[in-house]
Amino acid sequence: MTRAEALPRGAVIGMVGGGQLGRMTSVAAARLGYRMHVLSADADDPAMDVAWRHTRLAAADDAAAVDAFAAAVDVITFETENLDLRLLALLERQAHARPSVAAVRLAGDRRLEKAFLNRIGVPTAPWVEVQGADDIARFVAAHGAAIVKTARAGYDGKGQMRLRDAADAQRVFAALGGVPIIIEAMVPFLREVSVVLARGADGAIAAFDVTENVHRDGILDTSTVPAAMDAATAARAIDAATRVAAGLDYVGLMALEMFVMEGGAVLANEIAPRPHNSGHWTMDACLASQFEQHVRAICGLPLASPARHADAVMTNLIGPEGAAAWDGLVATPGTVAHWYGKTQARPGRKLGHATALRAKG
Ligand code: AMP
Repeated sequence: MTRAEALPRGAVIGMVGGGQLGRMTSVAAARLGYRMHVLSADADDPAMDVAWRHTRLAAADDAAAVDAFAAAVDVITFETENLDLRLLALLERQAHARPSVAAVRLAGDRRLEKAFLNRIGVPTAPWVEVQGADDIARFVAAHGAAIVKTARAGYDGKGQMRLRDAADAQRVFAALGGVPIIIEAMVPFLREVSVVLARGADGAIAAFDVTENVHRDGILDTSTVPAAMDAATAARAIDAATRVAAGLDYVGLMALEMFVMEGGAVLANEIAPRPHNSGHWTMDACLASQFEQHVRAICGLPLASPARHADAVMTNLIGPEGAAAWDGLVATPGTVAHWYGKTQARPGRKLGHATALRAKG
C-alpha cells in the first residue's frame, strides 16, 4: 500500500481480534463505506454481530487461516497487542498491516516497550528485567515498594504482583517467574491519564483531549474529560504520545497511558497500539470517534477534527453488576449506553460502557 493512496469505499479491513474494540471499529468502518473481516478463534465474538466476514483461527500457528485472511483484505489492523508470538510471526510475513506488526509486537512486550520509551526520551517508572529472585530483592532494596509484571500477555492488572519487602522476592518470583518478567517501582502518582491520538500515513497527528482515568482492581473504571490538570502538564502528556507515534512511524490510532506526578512530570506506563477503553467517550463527545479516526488513518482518509463538543464521564460496565445497571442507564437522559453483545457476564469482564455528557464547561 503506498502512502498517498486512500482505500476506495467497499474495500475490506482485516481485524485481528473480534472483541468489543473490533465491534465498535466495524460500525465506524461500515459508516465510511468499508467492510470488516475478522480473524479470531470464535465466530460468535462480539464483533461478529456487525462485521462482514470471519476467518476462524484454529490455533496461534494456523498459517492457512492467516494467509487466507490476509489475501482477502486490503489492510490488516488489530484490536489487541496480546498476541501469541507464533501468530505475530505469521502476520509479520504480510506487508499490509497498519499499524506495523513491529509496533504491535513492541507494545505487547513490556521490555521492548519501556526500552523504546526510554530510548526516545519518554520517562517511565524505574524498571529492570528480572532473571531471578535476587534481581527482585535488589530492586526492592534500592527502590522500595515495587510491582512485578509479566512482560507479555498482561492486561487489566493480570500477571502482576506488588511487594514492599525484599523478603517477598522468592514468593513473587516463584509465582510469576516461569515467563519473562520485569519489576518496576511503585510511583506515587497524583492521577492517571491517557492520550489517544491518530497518526496518518502522511505523518499528520490528531490528538483527543487528555483523559483522566480511574482504575478499580486493575481495571479501568471511569474516564473523564476534561482531565483535572494544567495546560503545561497536558501539553507534556500530548508531547509524549506524539513522540511515541512518530518514533514508531505509527499509522492508526494509539493510546499512551501515563502517571501524572506531583509537580507535573508525566511517566509513561503503557502503549496501546489500537483504539483504547479510555477513548470510548469520543464516540459521544466528538464528531468523529477514536474508531472512526482509526479507520480513517489506516485507510488513508484525512483525519477528522478531534475537537470535543461536550464534557464526558465514561463508566465501564463490568461483570454482573454492570449488566444490572443497564436498564437504568438506557433510561437516563444525557447518557449514551453501549452494549458489547458478550454471551457471558463473568466477573471482571467488560460488558459495555455508558458515557454521561454535560455541556462543555
Ligand atoms: P498496567 O497493567 O501496567 O496498566 O497496570 C494496571 C494499573 O496498576 C495501572 O493503571 C495503575 O493503576 C497500577 N500501576 C501499574 N504500575 C504502577 C506503578 N509502577 N506505580 C503505581 N501504580 C501502578
